[in-house]
This record gives sequence, structure tokens and C-alpha cells, in this order.
Amino acid sequence: MLTITPALRKSPILILALAMFQISCATSQATFRIFDKPITWNAEREELSLKYLKERHGLEKETASIDPQMVVVHWTAINSIEVTFDVFNPSTLGGREDLTGASNLNVSSQFLIDRDGTIFRLLPDTTFARHVIGLNYLAIGIENVGGSDSPLTKEQLKANEKLIRYLKRKYPIEYVIGHHEYQNFQTTDLWKETDPDYRTVKSDPGDAFMQKLRKNLTDLNLKPVPKL
Ligand SMILES: [Zn+2]
Repeated sequence: MLTITPALRKSPILILALAMFQISCATSQATFRIFDKPITWNAEREELSLKYLKERHGLEKETASIDPQMVVVHWTAINSIEVTFDVFNPSTLGGREDLTGASNLNVSSQFLIDRDGTIFRLLPDTTFARHVIGLNYLAIGIENVGGSDSPLTKEQLKANEKLIRYLKRKYPIEYVIGHHEYQNFQTTDLWKETDPDYRTVKSDPGDAFMQKLRKNLTDLNLKPVPKL
């Protein structure tokens, strides 16, 4: 005969609690999704990327790939995901004279996050993308739809955090920086740009967003941005 002990009486509650815990875990994981939305990667883009690696970064490579050690966070200064996609999609730059002198390779990034926090992967994580002078060869770029007139949203903050945690699990990421901070690396060994005059001034995504992002990522023990 089965004696109902206090422990057994409690067990259905324990089972229910465990089930609810599992459901809540599944729910929180379900909110992290990466949707592949690839931009054009063809022979021309690969050739221009290899040329950029060689001429700008001084690196001779056989494939246009990167070894990620850094994540650079951007905003698009374009208020639509579709228009941003159309800007990044062609292999070559169209008419941006501030950039074409250095290379005709179009700008892009590996990831693009919409205002509602939806994450799109435009290129494989380790495929070369032109998004930050001096550091592309080791940096994964995350673009966020927004700009100075459309501050990045809470949903984008959360999505950046989740995406960076995902990338940190896959690669030895040591730095997470805002694009506006990139020039602080000029005096470090990580900086690779052959032309000392090739610089652009950036304000994206700004200190306020990076402060919030860094606070949420404190436990990752990322390295601080070097002081100039
Ligand atoms: Zn940027």
C-alpha cells in the first residue's frame, strides 16, 4: 500500500513548477531568431573584398573571411530595412566619393536589426564586410535601422544583447564597440589601415546606446575601448 508522504504530496507541485520553468525557458529562447536575408555575394564582391583586405588592411588571404574578435554596432541613418538592404545589396559602391577612392567595394554588414528587434543575417558571420575602417578584418558588424532622428529602440537594445551573446559563444569576441569609437584603436596593434589619412568621422550609435548595451553585457567581461 502506498503511503502518501508529505514529499509525495508536494511532488505534483514540483512537477508543475518544473514544467512551467521549462515552458518559460522555451519561450525566452523562442524570442531569439536570426532570419537569413542574404545580400549579393558573387565573384566580383569576393574579388573586391580580397583586394580590400590586401590594399587597405595589408592582409593577403585566399578567401574573403574574417577571424572575429570584435563586434561593431552601427545605426543605418536610413529609416527602412528594405532601403538599407537595397543599399548594401550591390557589390560596388554607387557614387559615394568619400569612400570610392579607398575601394569600390560596397559597404555592408553581417547583421541588420529592424526597429522591432528582428535580426537579419545579410552575410555569414565570418564573411568579410566593409563597415569600419581599419578593423573590418576582425570585426562583425551589426547595423540597426535608425539614426539621430530615430533613436534605437528598446527592442533593438535587447536584440543586440542577444545577438552579441550568441556571437560571443561562437567566437573569441573581446571588444564590443560603437562605430563612433573606432578611431580609438588607431594606436593599437589591432589597427590595420595602410593610408594614415583614410578616416571618416562617425557618430553612430552614440554613447547613450553603448552605455546601456555594455551595462547589459557586464558579465561577458569585455575589454574596455582603449583611450586615445
Ligand atoms: Zn556605422
